[in-house]
Amino acid sequence: MVTKVSSSLTASVLNLSGVGPKVEEKLNRIGIYTVQDLLFHLPLRYQDKTRISLIGTLQPGQEALIEGTVETTQIKYGRRRSLLCMLSDESDTLMLRFFHFSRTQQQRLNKGNLLRCYGQIRRGAKTLEMIHPEYRHIDPDNSPAIDKQLTAIYPLTDGLQQRTMQKLSSQALDILSNLEDKLVELLPDEILATFDLPDLISALSYVHRPPPEAKLQLLRDGKHPTQQRLAFEELLSQHLSLQRVRQKTLALRATPLVDQGQLREKFIKILNFKLTQSQEKVLREIAQDLEKNTPMLRLLQGDVGSGKTVVSAFAALHALESSNQVALMVPTELLAEQHFQTFSQWFEKIDIEVLLITGKSTKSERDTYRKVLGNKQRVIAIGTHALFQKDITFSNLGLIIIDEQHRFGVHQRLSLLDKGIVKDSIPHQLIMTATPIPRTLAMTVYADLDLSIIGSPPPNRQTINTVVLSNDRRDEIIARIKAACHCDRQVYWVCTLIEESEVLQCQTATETFQQLTEKLHDINIGLIHGRMKNREKEAIMASFKDNKTQLLVATTVIEVGVDVPNASLMIIENSERLGLFQLHQLRGRVGRGNIKSDCVLMYQAPLGELARSRLETMRETNDGFEIAEKDLALRGPGELTGTRQTGLPDLRIADILRDANLLADVQRAAKLLQQKYPQHIDPLLKRWIGKELEYSNV
Ligand code: ADP
Ligand code: MG
Repeated sequence: MVTKVSSSLTASVLNLSGVGPKVEEKLNRIGIYTVQDLLFHLPLRYQDKTRISLIGTLQPGQEALIEGTVETTQIKYGRRRSLLCMLSDESDTLMLRFFHFSRTQQQRLNKGNLLRCYGQIRRGAKTLEMIHPEYRHIDPDNSPAIDKQLTAIYPLTDGLQQRTMQKLSSQALDILSNLEDKLVELLPDEILATFDLPDLISALSYVHRPPPEAKLQLLRDGKHPTQQRLAFEELLSQHLSLQRVRQKTLALRATPLVDQGQLREKFIKILNFKLTQSQEKVLREIAQDLEKNTPMLRLLQGDVGSGKTVVSAFAALHALESSNQVALMVPTELLAEQHFQTFSQWFEKIDIEVLLITGKSTKSERDTYRKVLGNKQRVIAIGTHALFQKDITFSNLGLIIIDEQHRFGVHQRLSLLDKGIVKDSIPHQLIMTATPIPRTLAMTVYADLDLSIIGSPPPNRQTINTVVLSNDRRDEIIARIKAACHCDRQVYWVCTLIEESEVLQCQTATETFQQLTEKLHDINIGLIHGRMKNREKEAIMASFKDNKTQLLVATTVIEVGVDVPNASLMIIENSERLGLFQLHQLRGRVGRGNIKSDCVLMYQAPLGELARSRLETMRETNDGFEIAEKDLALRGPGELTGTRQTGLPDLRIADILRDANLLADVQRAAKLLQQKYPQHIDPLLKRWIGKELEYSNV
């Protein structure tokens, strides 16, 4: 084999030995293009094969390297055929258990053989066990050395082997240590000293190949100073890039929107409720922004059900009154449809045209929309990201509203800004989210935005009563549904699945729908899932809204934004599979009026510890902020529950929730850099944000 030599960190991974086009393609899939990318691809966890433990000292749950002599090997024919191999060392015995094994493998496990095994320890019936351990035969006279460093386990993608990844990262580390033009330290000494951070190269080397005495627990939790050092740099870059976006946006102009209040007066008359003080307050903040000739960049935060939609309607009217068009973008077609209904009902009475534009709009519909948007000033277009595709052009867009922002990525949001720019002018923007994140966090994640918060819900809301029940108590739950429907209440039944496979989710929902139909004859049941045609979905939602259907079986398509105040019982199947944010969002579909609401969280036993705590949290509180905090506390090491559901940025190394403790320092460091070391900012952004952040090219 030809050994390939790479001289630089920016060289393609193709320069490494063992990488051909196939491996390259797989690496690219997880964002690894260059040697340097490998260095920033950090281990997910570690294995300690630097010492051999005595069996007698082991605890269930722990992973360990052991060495022992085979006592017996036998096949057991039970519910599952398995190969059992009893092993002993001077302290105790332990059982190896294999469900998949070959004949040769079995034959080689002879009594008296010495084995070295690595795996997780479990409690068995009589002794401790290891299931499918890694193991090798050891020659007692020529025993191989044990590892000198902890073994890094990397995040992978389909078809990429752990061994390959480990070898590649070793090559990258070699290059790093031999290189003449070292990887540049972009944090000035002053920052390293002030915040007590190790330098970049030592941090990287340590994280990939920790010494045996490294604090494994800290490393597992991502809290080791070397990991924190890397996270710090990434968070700092993230923060700086958003600040740059903000500066650039504020350097643009926006049309000041003058509001005489006529539409608002009319709207207030047709609304059947009064705005809360909280809503009034955020509306004043929004109105002040809209009157300026610099673009509004405002995040409206409010828990599920706090009444953000009506606030956005008032903001829209402000723009419409001054003859500017409004675009309202949402993450799902179902929500677009819902908002379209709500806004149409409201706005037809005050003579404002509302358009619905989604990916499913036909060509002729789009032609019509184009004409309307070309000619008419007072119009609001509601839709998914299809709103901003090429063939749709607004002639006079004054305000963009983005609902449920947490479902869009940061980059999506920013690229949307890109599209809104006409010459050097940009629409005002109102961004709404239910993600209740603590303020310091918000200031980093949304460093480009001003913040308005709806602090309290509309009056007369009753807390939702949540119970947790095992899946096998289905009959009780069905009885509850009957009772609820007989009292003219409406019910959601949500089916979830662990895979993000829409097809499977729809299948489960369809089956559940059939089962429930059999058991609940006198109740009208609807079924809704993502693979239905838009028309069908509309019809089903409309029927549920009008209380013609009492029970709606759904996939998680209803998670965001759906608003049917008469629905007051929420049943979530396999709730143990969902993260806290998602559960909170789903539960928020009930308790939206003044009817007392209930939520049943069904689970499949046995419950893991983490899942149990999550469900307990749901049972104990309805408060989004409290739930967010609990989520922070509960998230296990290496758990990837998170950021996808919350709209927090997907970072390479840092975890915005886990590393929230760094954020205050990150903000101080950002100021310091801007004041004293501005020349470091571009290279930092290049390293960490790279080409993803289109908006910074404006
Ligand atoms: P979210 O903040 O989750 O988007 P919505 O805007 O959908 O919440 O509002 C939830 C429900 O509360 C809706 O049915 C809405 O009409 C109602 N609502 C909003 N504001 C008020 C208010 N001030 N008084 C009474 N009901 C309100
Ligand atoms: Mg909403």
